[in-house]
Amino acid sequence: MLYEPGASAPRNIIPLSVPEIQGNEWRYIKECLDTNWVSPAGQFVDRFEREVADRVNSKHAIATVNGTAALHIALLVAGVDADDEVLVSTLSFIAPANAIRYVGAWPVFIDSDPDHWQMDSNKAMEFLDKQCQWQDGVLINKTTSRQIKAIIPVHILGHPCDMDPIIDIARKYNLKVIEDVAESLGAKYKNRMVGSIGDISCFSFNGNKVVTAAGGGMVVTDNKSMAERARYLTTQAKDDEVEYIHNEIGYNYRLTNIQAAMGCAQMEQLDDKVNAKRRIFAAYSEALSNCPGITPMREAEEWAFSVYWMYTVLVEENIYGIDSRALMARLTDASIQSRPLWQPLHCSPAHAGWVQNDCPIAEKICRNSLCLPCSVGITEGEIARVVHIIKGIRE
Ligand SMILES: *Cc1c(COP(=O)(O)O)cnc(C)c1O
Repeated sequence: MLYEPGASAPRNIIPLSVPEIQGNEWRYIKECLDTNWVSPAGQFVDRFEREVADRVNSKHAIATVNGTAALHIALLVAGVDADDEVLVSTLSFIAPANAIRYVGAWPVFIDSDPDHWQMDSNKAMEFLDKQCQWQDGVLINKTTSRQIKAIIPVHILGHPCDMDPIIDIARKYNLKVIEDVAESLGAKYKNRMVGSIGDISCFSFNGNKVVTAAGGGMVVTDNKSMAERARYLTTQAKDDEVEYIHNEIGYNYRLTNIQAAMGCAQMEQLDDKVNAKRRIFAAYSEALSNCPGITPMREAEEWAFSVYWMYTVLVEENIYGIDSRALMARLTDASIQSRPLWQPLHCSPAHAGWVQNDCPIAEKICRNSLCLPCSVGITEGEIARVVHIIKGIRE
């Protein structure tokens, strides 16, 4: 079984990934309790927003109750309406596709690149070039007659998407770019912070992310009017604070000061956590480099600085001897948690029933994938235990 982030695992079990609470969390949260600032307003909310914006090199940040809410707001702010379409990575946690449906729009799933597993910009370009056309100044999907409005590159597993071609595509076809940075805070693309490249970006501070606020999210953008609209929509679209006048339907998507306090304490540890994740990556990759049939995740050296949020390998059954799910079972027998990547979204029953592109690469990556224990606090001895099982199967 998988332990929820935060639950402490029984002794000897190596959990997949649990939060690491090492800094000022107790102190800052106590400060909220002592001062009675517990609800969705307060200095920690402002400070958390400032710190994330500064870290990402962006002008504005709006804290939200979680990353999925951030995506919902970003889509609204980007002008995505009911019956529009939005391109999104198929190999992703389900949140961005669900958020697209919350606004009544439809996802168009784009396959992964085989080397780094991120959205394949060539496939996105091919879809737009061949399956869409301009009609009265708007871009229409020829099959569905719906308008294409935006593209959501999801930077999965701590690694950036190849953004230059995605930005080129967006310019050519007049699409808004919404970066999903939930798994990749701290990652860089050609020395630019991921989350500062598109029009608007979304972050998550769920318990299993690189830094956590015990749940939370953030919308980040350089665009002042987008930021103001995001703030407005997350606070019930309140137009008059005294008379409580609301001209539109908004949402209560604000983050509490207590959670922001936790987020501030965790942000202070971001560099340490990223360094730990990169050390874990290096230790596993070195130990598994001579294990035939096991291919560790890689960094696109020309353009990526990855934070390696979740250490993942591909298992090639015909070389390794058993498949990824059988290896998962062996690890479970040894009290080691592991997990495959998400079912690609074009295969998801939740998103079935409308026109889809083929995405064979993502299907293959998912089939072969296994995420290995990689908590920031994992010890060398624990990594050695995992490696011992993986290598032992071939001996
Ligand atoms: C975790 C995650 C989200 C959503 O974040 P929540 O805070 O759990 O709502 C969105 N996108 C991706 C890719 C994620 O991994």
